[in-house]
Amino acid sequence: MKAAEAAHDPDSAPPRWNLRKLYDDIGLFLFSHRLDLTPLNFGCAHDYVAGSDRRIVDEVNRAIRERRLSNGWIEQYLAGQDSHVVMPDALHDATAQLAEELDRCLDQLGRSTERQKRYGTALDKTVRTASPDVLFTQLRDLTRQMVEQNKLAEIEMRLSHRRVSELRITLRSARQASKQDYLTGLQNRRGFERIVETWQGSQGGVGGVLAICDIDHFKLVNDRFGHDTGDRVLRYVADALHALAEMKHEVARLRGEEFVILMPDRTLDQAAREVNLIRESLGARCLIDRETKLPIGPVTFSAGLTALAKTDALAPALRRADAALYAAKRAGRNCIHAAVDRGQVIPMPG
Ligand code: GH3
Ligand code: MG
Ligand code: MG
Repeated sequence: MKAAEAAHDPDSAPPRWNLRKLYDDIGLFLFSHRLDLTPLNFGCAHDYVAGSDRRIVDEVNRAIRERRLSNGWIEQYLAGQDSHVVMPDALHDATAQLAEELDRCLDQLGRSTERQKRYGTALDKTVRTASPDVLFTQLRDLTRQMVEQNKLAEIEMRLSHRRVSELRITLRSARQASKQDYLTGLQNRRGFERIVETWQGSQGGVGGVLAICDIDHFKLVNDRFGHDTGDRVLRYVADALHALAEMKHEVARLRGEEFVILMPDRTLDQAAREVNLIRESLGARCLIDRETKLPIGPVTFSAGLTALAKTDALAPALRRADAALYAAKRAGRNCIHAAVDRGQVIPMPG
């Protein structure tokens, strides 16, 4: 599409003054319903305030009426929606629609080429055979026909362009969501595997450290304070661990209350020191349950470390880190162990 057309395209982004109001309304919505500022809540607030998703608007309105709108409600609701959490079905549908659209485009292209050819032949024939007194009228009629047909083709192309743009957005968010953990916003295991692959295929450095961190006695948090508070604690630990990303480490949610970290260019000692900083700062804070105002207490985690060379397979390295984590749990939790040579596991100084 040409630049001048893009500027007037009704499907392109809203003008900035509209965006400003949208941001304000989203902020007001989150604040007035006491919702956390998480990517998930923000996305839901956006769809609700902008009215871009009728289903969300209806469901949120119902939750507001029934006084059920909360962080937990949004997570549960979105987990059941294929627009945010991408189910294989959604991905399959979008791919099939894209293939159909491509067929339609090729078809249009074929018909357009055919039309041009017919027009050329008709022009040629008219010029050669028509008598001078009707030549002008015939040429004018032919050209009019052609212009009409081109207009229709252009409308078809515009519709097609719009459908493909929508599909592209669906596919992009599908690709992204399939690698992201929807609760914490961190990479999920699949995303982490891709990151490790990319790192192992990159130039420079020979290896690093793989760490698994598992929250201690997390089940007790759920049992005492409920699943919503448990989720908030999970996000809190995820945020704390994410500080390691600033040191070029990669943090992902492996499963449940377990996180995995790739720490390139680190020895076991260096990695243990960095993980320890997070462990100690978490352990020094006492969390309060937002709903009941009761103290949850400090949240601690145990960690298992192992060296990961660029040539190492990931699965056995994860097993080694898991064995080290198991040893840290047995040693009393809130500490770090590392798997070293020949399956030996040692405590790391804290
Ligand atoms: P340990 O110190 O031995 O690791 O004990 P733990 O209680 O942390 O470990 P356990 O494996 O017994 O329990 C893990 C709990 O994590 C059980 C499960 O319900 C909870 N969990 C897993 N995923 C989620 C989640 O997404 N949200 C919430 N709230 N809880 C989760
Ligand atoms: Mg666990
Ligand atoms: Mg645990």
